[in-house]
Amino acid sequence: MNNVSELFGINVFNDSVMKERLPEDVYNILKSTIKEGNTIDSSIADTVATAMKDWAIEKGATHYTHWFQPLTGITAEKHDSFISPTDDGHIIMEFSGKELIKGEPDASSFPSGGLRATFEARGYTAWDPSSYAFIKDETLCIPTAFCSYSGEALDQKTPLLRSMDAINKQALRIVKLFGHTDVKRVNTTVGPEQEYFLVDKKVYDKRPDLMYCGRTLIGAMAPKGQEMDDHYFGVLKHRVAEFMRELDRELWKLGVLAKTEHNEAAPAQHELAPIFTTTNIAADHNQLTMEMMKKTALQHGLVCLLHEKPFDGVNGSGKHNNWSLSTDTGINFLKPGKVPEENTLFLLTLAAVIKAVDEHQELLRISVATAGNDHRLGANEAPPAIISIFLGDELTDILNSIANGVHHDNTERIKMNMGSEVIPAFRKDNTDRNRTSPFAFTGNKFEFRMLGSASSISDTNVMINTMVAEVFDEFATRLEKANDFKAEVNAIIKEVVEKNGRIIFNGDGYSEEWEKEAERRGLLNLRSTVDAIPLLKSEKNIAMFEKHGVLNRTEINSRVEIILENYSKILHIEALTLIEMMNREVIPAITAYTDKLCKTVLNKNSVGGINSTVERELIARLSAANSEIYSLTNQLKMAVATAECTATVLDKAKIYHDTVLHLMADIRKYSDSAESVVPEEQWPYPSYGELLFSI
Ligand code: ADP
Ligand code: MG
Repeated sequence: MNNVSELFGINVFNDSVMKERLPEDVYNILKSTIKEGNTIDSSIADTVATAMKDWAIEKGATHYTHWFQPLTGITAEKHDSFISPTDDGHIIMEFSGKELIKGEPDASSFPSGGLRATFEARGYTAWDPSSYAFIKDETLCIPTAFCSYSGEALDQKTPLLRSMDAINKQALRIVKLFGHTDVKRVNTTVGPEQEYFLVDKKVYDKRPDLMYCGRTLIGAMAPKGQEMDDHYFGVLKHRVAEFMRELDRELWKLGVLAKTEHNEAAPAQHELAPIFTTTNIAADHNQLTMEMMKKTALQHGLVCLLHEKPFDGVNGSGKHNNWSLSTDTGINFLKPGKVPEENTLFLLTLAAVIKAVDEHQELLRISVATAGNDHRLGANEAPPAIISIFLGDELTDILNSIANGVHHDNTERIKMNMGSEVIPAFRKDNTDRNRTSPFAFTGNKFEFRMLGSASSISDTNVMINTMVAEVFDEFATRLEKANDFKAEVNAIIKEVVEKNGRIIFNGDGYSEEWEKEAERRGLLNLRSTVDAIPLLKSEKNIAMFEKHGVLNRTEINSRVEIILENYSKILHIEALTLIEMMNREVIPAITAYTDKLCKTVLNKNSVGGINSTVERELIARLSAANSEIYSLTNQLKMAVATAECTATVLDKAKIYHDTVLHLMADIRKYSDSAESVVPEEQWPYPSYGELLFSI
């Protein structure tokens, strides 16, 4: 099928399918549930389930699954077939409302961070009717939330849905104050841009570090990296272009609005951006996108790497979370309009985001803290670990003028003139682009750029939604009581500029001066996951999440445990992989080549009079490197053993961070220096050159 509009959503039980297949009253109930975020009426579940099943079977499906996002960072599914036996030894295909609404996968094999010790292993999945069911691999997938027997969230979706309700509740109070009484729901919207690498499967298969860890643990830099800036937006190679075309089609079939595909800054690095949609759907779609990237790549003899830093010395991969909020009547809170200084809803929302980000910096940092992303943040390629906001000069001026009670001069806002009559003139954006800011205002949305490429976008949006809800709550309470609305809005903006203005930074976020300046301003600089995560369970954060019904104390504590445990597990696997690579391949390879050089020296000596300085120098260098590698590898083994015997999750993670990571970096240094002088055919692993330029 070549017609994209016919292809789009072909595997989705979407609005038009529902309208066609459901009785009108059932359709209307379901539709209002979806639109207004109400609880589903269970009396309609049987009818919906039967319609879904019939539709799925017509499309060749034989199974169904509750599709959910446990705290592993990826999705989970348990497939059940539709078959049900009849008395006469045959089967019929059945799917009940009960099976649609509720599933009971055994929760004991999913991370629960201590919740399991105190509660039953039983877990429930519950249908999320606001995200459409779809067919993948002949299976009807029903997006669900996952919780424990006693109702604690064990997944990433539940808190996300709760946070969307929290911000809806507070944002409704705000829009009512502006007279928009027809608004029934305020939804946050997200467009996540996704970066990834593609490598040849044949080369990948020879790298245990890529196979076990998703990133290279050793590898000397290739003579060419990204310095020529010739990859970004460059012409697509044929194989990559074919992959992207197929990926788009697969995603379109699933109703994912894949829009933009291009090469990224590093060689072999690419990006996909979808059109934005409601946050929980965007989160589901981003998970599907990552899954489809991996699957489609394999069909093209490629492997898609989603790790945040697969190669040392070249840019890593991130995910940009473009966030805004809109009413069901179509008002975008963050759209400045032609005269932003007169758009009070916009200015108030801007102030709310500034205050939220300043007062809850650590939450944004926590939401992107993973072992993989630690290699990226602050490495002069991605935003630093310090949170700041880029507003651009014009909006900063507007806020300052309001704070100082002076008139804003807008004569600067001019049309773009490219100096040629044939090129049409267009209005310049309110802000230029600033690629170094972690949290940038980009026209009608905020773009948070610290997310790692492999993570779910859920955690980040749980944080943004909840912290903005908290500030909206405070603003709404003040404004509801105010006698002079406009004066109170100005007072709020003035206060935010004075108290929270320190978070605004329009300069170069990669510079060293900024790190110093940020410290002077008292901004947090949480360099690693181990520094950041424990702050999640501060009393201030627990109080806020509980107040808005997003996460309770038990859930927060369990999440802290899970994230730290996960951090240690990743480093454990990496360390074991590196030890094996050194002991079984690198050390023997260096020994073998040194041995060969020694034989050459002996041969030369036996002839006499032939200079063997080069061989002797190489022997000395390689032997020295090899003994360092050997000794460091033994130290690494000991460090891992010590970490694994450590009782508390935080102490254990600290050993991995403080000791294991450093030893791994040291080993790498010696291994890479040896690699650069050992002949290619005698080095056990494909080089960076092959990995990055083989497609
Ligand atoms: P870039 O970051 O390269 O400038 P774009 O301007 O094309 O990219 O937009 C990036 C993403 O922002 C896209 O996924 C787009 O759909 C999304 N986006 C645009 N408007 C909104 C909005 N109101 N809410 C959320 N995301 C949005
Ligand atoms: Mg972007």
